Amino acid sequence: MKGERVKKKKAASIHLNQKWCKGCYICLEVCPKKVLEKSSQVSDKGFNPVAASHPELCTLCLQCEMLCPDLAIRVENGG
Ligand code: SF4
Ligand code: SF4
Repeated sequence: MKGERVKKKKAASIHLNQKWCKGCYICLEVCPKKVLEKSSQVSDKGFNPVAASHPELCTLCLQCEMLCPDLAIRVENGG
């Protein structure tokens, strides 16, 4: 449409350091959009670390990043 710009939103970049994740799953509780999930693979520490399965749903609220006790999550605007 003339004069109307449609800006496509890019998915957030969610960096999860699975080596630092201790499997407390606080991030799963606080994410309002269910972006994060337990990964299907068990780590060598014996639990399922978290993975970002649906970054396209992320609203950049940063709750997960702020509340992860092990600083294992960093969220960036995808653009
Ligand atoms: S809050 Fe942090 S340490 Fe806990 S499960 Fe999520 S990523 Fe892992
Ligand atoms: S920034 Fe917010 S919406 Fe995005 S993954 Fe973290 S808690 Fe979920």
